[in-house]
Amino acid sequence: MSWYESLTDLIGDTPLLRLSRITEGISATVLAKLEHLNPGGSVKDRIALRMIEAAERDGRLLPGGTIVEPTSGNTGVGLAIVAALRGYRCVFTCPDKVSVEKRNVLRAHGAEVVVCPAAVPPDHPDSYRTVSTRLAREIPGAVKLDQYATPANRESHYHSTGPEIWAQTEGRITHFVTSVGTGGTISGAGRYLKEVSGGRVRIIGADPDGSVYSGGTGRPYLLEGVGQPGIPASFDPAVPDEILAVHDRDSIETTRRLAREEGLLVGGSSGMAVAAALSVAKNAGPADLIVVLLPDSGRGYLSKIFDDEWLGRFGLTPPEAGRATAAGAL
Ligand code: PMP
Repeated sequence: MSWYESLTDLIGDTPLLRLSRITEGISATVLAKLEHLNPGGSVKDRIALRMIEAAERDGRLLPGGTIVEPTSGNTGVGLAIVAALRGYRCVFTCPDKVSVEKRNVLRAHGAEVVVCPAAVPPDHPDSYRTVSTRLAREIPGAVKLDQYATPANRESHYHSTGPEIWAQTEGRITHFVTSVGTGGTISGAGRYLKEVSGGRVRIIGADPDGSVYSGGTGRPYLLEGVGQPGIPASFDPAVPDEILAVHDRDSIETTRRLAREEGLLVGGSSGMAVAAALSVAKNAGPADLIVVLLPDSGRGYLSKIFDDEWLGRFGLTPPEAGRATAAGAL
């Protein structure tokens, strides 16, 4: 017989899958780390578990306590799952551009969700970050775990994501490509891979065009959960060798290609990371082994990235949508 005792035992140890169709004409090996196969459907399960355990250990989170967190959804799902198993209440704040499906997942796990305007600066009293700080102060027994500040965020990737990739590739990885949101993944996994390889592995970030990590002003873009209007403490600028700006159009087109050509229903930040990985791969050779991290599932974006009408509103109708209509009309 074989079973797991707790859902938290199923967090991490995600597989690598070689991308074989979207990589046509590329001689390097491109392996995708499938984080949507975590129990909560994203890479953020990893940090949720570690942040809660850190707060329990240092006495900030006591039995029956409340977790308050500003989250675009994925961290919330991870926290809500661990909180449900351990008897904590969850109150999440999120920007209004986060899809309704994602908010409803949080509510399904018993969390309360406070929706805040996305189009205000981070220090504005109505921003989802400021509101979370206020709620953590006002609710008795509440703790803000703060993925944007706590070392537990990047530590989870230093101790799990990074070592997994090194072991799975038997140290043959040459490039690590990952999207940057809080910066926890690139800072933690990237640092581990740099250290263990003696600086040989190249660490490449993917950032929405417009966000500050790739030199933008912080102007709005469509992708969720990635990029920032300002550099948070969770990001370690010493780790990435390079951060590539990817336009929404490329990210969305690649996301849709992943579903159609590779069978991978993943989110927009996965498409963004793969778009960046493909541009790295085009200049790489047959001995290169590129690992690209796919942070979450595409289920939360069916009414956005995978909806032709929604895309059309932003002038982003992908070419294959037109082809499908033309074929249907015949
Ligand atoms: N993709 C999605 C969908 C996310 O929610 C996040 C986290 N905000 C990321 C990518 C980026 O991960 P990190 O915060 O570790 O930089």
